[in-house]
Amino acid sequence: MSLTKYWQKRDFAKTREPKGRSRLKTKSSLFVIQKHESSKLHYDFRLEVAGVLKSWALPKGMPEKVNEKRLAVETEDHPTEYADFEGAIPKGEYGAGKVKIWDKGTFQNITTIDGQLVSTQKALKKGHLNFLLEGNKIKGSFTFIAFKKINKGHNQWLLIKRNDT
Ligand code: MN
Repeated sequence: MSLTKYWQKRDFAKTREPKGRSRLKTKSSLFVIQKHESSKLHYDFRLEVAGVLKSWALPKGMPEKVNEKRLAVETEDHPTEYADFEGAIPKGEYGAGKVKIWDKGTFQNITTIDGQLVSTQKALKKGHLNFLLEGNKIKGSFTFIAFKKINKGHNQWLLIKRNDT
């Protein structure tokens, strides 16, 4: 499913071989999942979008089987540098406890409306994002669906596993 290796080996400014998926004009960005042993163990799921990490807390971690849904509670945007953060947040501080990178890699937005790719930002605003993950542990397609709005924004989402690659 992923063309990353194919793309890495070629300079499409120089070769006329097909680039593939060019219709979608999409590029991959960073994702990270951090295991966070705070007062309640959870996994923080982050996608790089427009220079920040859009973030969700997954109380029960990633969905493991196709069509399995997991609650994802939207949290505040984090700086992109946070994707490299591992360590202990001191007692008394927000989110006190150990943070460990559980998986990391690239994500690719594949959300379309009427056959046209929509930006990740627009998809998130609409509360429906289809995407691919290419990490060390996680490889495959997923969907985020917003189902509960608090204070105008989307607050609670479902993360659904689609297919393995
Ligand atoms: Mn957390």
